Amino acid sequence: MRDLLTIENLRTHFFAPEGTIKAVDGVSLRVREGETVCIVGESGCGKSITALSVMGLAAGSSGKVVGGRIEFDGRNLLELDKNELRTLRGHEIAMIFQEPMSSLNPVLPVGEQIMEPLIEHLKLGKKAARARAIELIAQVGIARPEQIANAYPHELSGGMLQRIMIAAAISCSPKLLIADEPTTALDVTIQAQILDMLRRFKAESNMSILLITHDLGVVAEMADYVVVMYAGKVVEEGEVTELFSHPKHPYTKGLLRSKPILNHRQDELYAIPGQVPNPLELTVSCYFHDRCGQCMDVCRSREPRLREAGERHRVACWLYEEAVAYV
Ligand code: SF4
Repeated sequence: MRDLLTIENLRTHFFAPEGTIKAVDGVSLRVREGETVCIVGESGCGKSITALSVMGLAAGSSGKVVGGRIEFDGRNLLELDKNELRTLRGHEIAMIFQEPMSSLNPVLPVGEQIMEPLIEHLKLGKKAARARAIELIAQVGIARPEQIANAYPHELSGGMLQRIMIAAAISCSPKLLIADEPTTALDVTIQAQILDMLRRFKAESNMSILLITHDLGVVAEMADYVVVMYAGKVVEEGEVTELFSHPKHPYTKGLLRSKPILNHRQDELYAIPGQVPNPLELTVSCYFHDRCGQCMDVCRSREPRLREAGERHRVACWLYEEAVAYV
């Protein structure tokens, strides 16, 4: 499989009066054609900023991509100008967000919002774009698509809005779909339907998916490859079956342990002790050391690097360094 998206040593920082927040600090990952890569981790670990950096949406008044390379289908996205990025977005790379209500325009009927990329990128006329929008609304499993096309976002449920977002995102048959917590706000039945739909579209079009989630159940269902992030860095990555059956990093193990198990009585759900560190107070160390039951002296003063831990499996943890001469 060919690499479609390659991120190398990406660093996206935010400059606050209190100091620099290294939201993404040296992240590398790749997504191959037709592959689903899940980025998993707790809130604030840099998953969404990684995705927004790919879309060219992370830089704002206080944020900036300060280093690295994002190559998509042979082009370095960080070298494209605004117009080139706009052409790419919604056409070759599309994104769906957790909260469709805040992503859709509240004063525009949803059908028109699906028509927009069809008119802009595929140069369809209004009539053809509307017909295609109605087709797409039907494809995402919404009944009465003609009427729904005329509805405003506030008239639809959360599940329907997420389907509308998906219809708009897949309208131009993107090569890469970035989905940022697309099912978090939905109940489990709708969540299963949405995931099913994404899998179906992926199979039909060989689309690649970069899925951001904190939910390991979603990862298990969707991922081919998993990237675990913590405090702006990748701490472990591997193929989904390998990572779930042989997790190495104590953080990954903790995430897996905190996942509820169906049909298995658990008097108390496990939670990883402590919290993600304050990004303004990070020192050279393993950033997980305050929460890790296996922390050693070296973990507090030196940063572990990602090392091979098997075939397509890498981990950043001093427990897996071969020579512990530094201790
Ligand atoms: Fe724990 Fe040390 Fe590994 Fe960090 S490097 S996860 S503190 S054992």
